[in-house]
Amino acid sequence: MQTKHSRRSFLKLAALSGGAVAAAGIGIPYALGESRPCFDPNDSYWALEKPPASPPLQENLSVDVAVIGGGYTGLSSAWHLARAAPGLDVVLLEARQVGHGASGRHGGMVLPQTGVESFEIASDLETHKLVYDLTVAGMASLRRLVQSTGGDCDLQLDGYVHTFVDEEDLPYYEEYVEQAVKAGIPLELMDGDETARELGTEVFAGGVYDPHGGSVHAMKLVRALAKAALEAGVRLFGDSPVTGIEEGETIVLRVGDGRRTVRAKAIVLATNGYTPKLGYFKSQVMPLHVQTAVTPPLTGGQLADMAWDSRLPFFDSRNALYHVVLTPDDRIVIGGGSAEYFFGNGVCYRGNLSAISDMMQAELWRMYPALRGMRFEYVWSGILGMSFDGTPGVGVTGKHRNIFYGLAYNGQGVNLSFLFGEVIAALHQGKTHPWLETPYAGDTLPYIPPEPFRWIGTQVALRYYDWDDAR
Ligand SMILES: Cc1cc2nc3c(=O)[nH]c(=O)nc-3n(C[C@H](O)[C@H](O)[C@H](O)COP(=O)(O)OP(=O)(O)OC[C@H]3O[C@@H](n4cnc5c(N)ncnc54)[C@H](O)[C@@H]3O)c2cc1C
Repeated sequence: MQTKHSRRSFLKLAALSGGAVAAAGIGIPYALGESRPCFDPNDSYWALEKPPASPPLQENLSVDVAVIGGGYTGLSSAWHLARAAPGLDVVLLEARQVGHGASGRHGGMVLPQTGVESFEIASDLETHKLVYDLTVAGMASLRRLVQSTGGDCDLQLDGYVHTFVDEEDLPYYEEYVEQAVKAGIPLELMDGDETARELGTEVFAGGVYDPHGGSVHAMKLVRALAKAALEAGVRLFGDSPVTGIEEGETIVLRVGDGRRTVRAKAIVLATNGYTPKLGYFKSQVMPLHVQTAVTPPLTGGQLADMAWDSRLPFFDSRNALYHVVLTPDDRIVIGGGSAEYFFGNGVCYRGNLSAISDMMQAELWRMYPALRGMRFEYVWSGILGMSFDGTPGVGVTGKHRNIFYGLAYNGQGVNLSFLFGEVIAALHQGKTHPWLETPYAGDTLPYIPPEPFRWIGTQVALRYYDWDDAR
């Protein structure tokens, strides 16, 4: 059975090649790390819908739980924690404003499963089905939360398509679907013609339709979660970066320039790709920079010419996979085609956004010739938290077992990060959760080699994937 590599598995190749190249004595062209983390502005289209700003922390606090990071993981954890135990004093500290990270800049796809099962059948079908069912249930819970806030966040859950580009991948996907159906997962294989009819593009050799999943407006979802968290009694603080963590039975957080402190009985690390900068998961998580863009609203004529009548979102099977969404206001959101890593877990973007934009533009025109000549209205970059083998992690760590975390979504975290908030609240209460039966709970994130192997290996792996995708 053939398998494609992808963002999910590139770190394995990176580690192997990094070791080989370093052993061969090849130097690093530039070995500049970042002395301090930076938080690049969120220039995404979604950011037009930012929620009201949260005030900065201006006093020292003692609380039950301090959540660090105001993306979906942080907001969902805070909301679930406050709801599960009314009276629990929960604060959330965000370096900039909620939705500043990946949660306010993603590609808009809401996906079941983890990034692992989306591409390969788990050897144990029962586990695969468990992961599928729990993530589908998480989506239903997300929908209920959105409805409870009175908005709809443009949340569409009518399914999505995982397309593939090479005819030679057909046997792989036939087997993938056969195994999934055997496990009770309702996937359907589509040939090239059917895929073209559903998506209005002829560039794919086929696709796999999954009736669960869909799309959402990234920042409207941040807004809804922030509103729900505030209503549940969570205190949100913006412009309040955590700059130091002293562990203990009571954890002391230094905030901003260090003059403010928060003493907490427990903390939640909800900082995904930024987490190594706080000194945690340095050997298990690394930030990868990826890009997304949006077109202006399409005209009625363009929509008719494209004939993307199903409006189903899709992503493809390339290593640097493309993901494409048609929004309710008739814009196309497209991302992918590139991934960059900067030395020392760099979180400041130092790449060439304009060149990547041109590449995404050309790919969109190739998929939809009716859009040729149309330019993007917004192009932006963001950070993924990657693990060595594509698995995400959720659990509790630290000598005093009071540091909770949910991270390493490997580019597939919109749905999962919300679910992990529920898992974190259960763990905090000392309760069990069905997710703890999956392979992605507890101390399971594998080791990623340190610098310079990490940087060298990643460069080699990314070049290899560019070459492989261009073949
Ligand atoms: C361009 C792009 C496209 C994507 N497309 C998709 C997609 O289509 N579908 C999908 O499922 N997933 C997608 N993802 C992944 C998905 O967006 C993430 O997995 C998910 O949003 C992670 O949420 P999070 O809350 O864990 O992290 P984040 O949203 O990154 O939140 C972390 C927060 O922590 C804050 N922070 C960091 N350090 C500190 C500190 N020291 N003190 C205080 N605050 C701090 C940051 O400012 C940030 O707001 C995409 C990601 C990117 C970047």
